[in-house]
Amino acid sequence: MTTLILRTNVGGQPLRWISWQDAVLLYVKGQVIWTVGDEPMRFHGGINRCTGLRSYMDVHPVIAAGGQVFTDYQDLAMPLTNHELFSRDQHTCLYCLARLPDGQLTRDHVIPISRGGADSWSNVVTACRGCNQQKANRTPQGAGMRLHAVPYTPSYAEWLILRNRRILADQMVFLKGHCPRDSRFRD
Ligand SMILES: [Zn+2]
Repeated sequence: MTTLILRTNVGGQPLRWISWQDAVLLYVKGQVIWTVGDEPMRFHGGINRCTGLRSYMDVHPVIAAGGQVFTDYQDLAMPLTNHELFSRDQHTCLYCLARLPDGQLTRDHVIPISRGGADSWSNVVTACRGCNQQKANRTPQGAGMRLHAVPYTPSYAEWLILRNRRILADQMVFLKGHCPRDSRFRD
């Protein structure tokens, strides 16, 4: 898995993960305003035909860039995918507490969609196949099953953490600082 660079706006609000190639472009265009992280990563480009030297660019783990109109931070969408959902619930079935590989987990709608439940962060939990089948088209109460944690909508910084399996130390420190006080990602 490749290393991703955390891009923020000028105000330091984390926006998204970008590829190192996209980060290099921002450096080349002179759009990087400030960076975080003492040790930049060196990415190599092609060999210069005249000099025979290989080009390279040092990229920091967190970069703030301008040159673009940003949407309101509060309005940035956090698409609900199984990868981030299972990460939020720490790859654990919230009914029987079995910790399983993602391939054996499912998305359960606490209030079933057929009963008016939404496909949204606050109405979905991670469930193993067995529990999902047992619960079927019922609420946890209706199925006599205990839900061990209340589903919640992650903050934007938490969502960025959930999205990336390989977060560098400097990036994690930066993102933790943007998580709510009661976040499980805070120390
Ligand atoms: Zn289960």
